[in-house]
Amino acid sequence: MHCLGIESTAHTFGVGIATSDGEILANEKSMYTPEEGGIHPRKAAEHHYTEALNVYKKALAKAGLTPADIDAISFSQGPGMPPSLDVGAVFARSLAQKLDVPLYGVNHVIGHIEVGRLTTEADDPVVLFVSGGNSQVISYAGGKYRVFGETLDIAVGNALDKFARKLGIPHPGGPKVEELAEQGTELLEMSYTVKGMDFSFSGLVTEAERLYNQGASTEDVCFSFQEHAYAMLIEATERAIAHLEKDEVLLTGGVAANTRLQEMLTTMCSERDADAYTVPFEYAMDNGAMIAWLGIEEAQTRDPDPLENTVIDANWRPDQVDVTWR
Ligand code: AMP
Ligand code: MG
Repeated sequence: MHCLGIESTAHTFGVGIATSDGEILANEKSMYTPEEGGIHPRKAAEHHYTEALNVYKKALAKAGLTPADIDAISFSQGPGMPPSLDVGAVFARSLAQKLDVPLYGVNHVIGHIEVGRLTTEADDPVVLFVSGGNSQVISYAGGKYRVFGETLDIAVGNALDKFARKLGIPHPGGPKVEELAEQGTELLEMSYTVKGMDFSFSGLVTEAERLYNQGASTEDVCFSFQEHAYAMLIEATERAIAHLEKDEVLLTGGVAANTRLQEMLTTMCSERDADAYTVPFEYAMDNGAMIAWLGIEEAQTRDPDPLENTVIDANWRPDQVDVTWR
């Protein structure tokens, strides 16, 4: 069975093709990058509908398939930015009708988790999902992916990007902040906010800006920003492992590319005799392959979505989904 998955929650329009044998045959994408400032939702959507057909054709070519080989369509139904989500939903509905195949609206966050379970050895992990739009500690319990901890304000990736913008670094700022942080030497005091299992990042952005305006070196501010932000995430993750008595952690989302975050995770896990896994970068960023693979899992275990149930849900949480495939 071949499922074609469509991703369009934010900056990336992606089309992936997965098989029921767990093979990824294609993972094509086109990413919108703003000329200045952050992601403009309307412009991201314009990018998506300009690129959609191209990316779709590239994915088929890459997989060596024709439209007639596609058995099901899945798409990211949420969470995300409504204008971007709508492009993917309309494209998916049209394609499913044209090819006369079943359609599955799937949860983007769960796509991130399931592709991690597919591409690493993690089986039943605590997931640290850190991206531009979300920061959550998630794990499977009682038939659902429960959110055990999450940001109380903005996502860690968004915090990095906002702060980077103040330094004149174009979007997305995370990689450049990481580079500068490697040259930092002094740990400056900043706010450290963990409340129970939740965390918060907006105060950190304000403080980093203040320290920078007061003359602290860019490298030290970047270094201190990373140390504080990532320690908060690791603390909440550690508490989740302890409470749930799980022995695996899966790191995913765009911020999973960060070497320092990976290092802190490895240290914490080794102290707890747990295994740390990081999703390969190609599948950690938003991508169509993760949606295609989740589509396969859902197609094998539940009925397709009638068209009237394929309206986007910008705030759809992973814990609202009944997990039928585990
Ligand atoms: P996503 O929303 O999952 O596509 O991830 C995008 C986010 O990942 C943006 O906020 C980036 O700044 C961030 N990001 C990408 N690479 C790195 C890195 N090496 N270190 C920290 N953040 C990163
Ligand atoms: Mg994402």
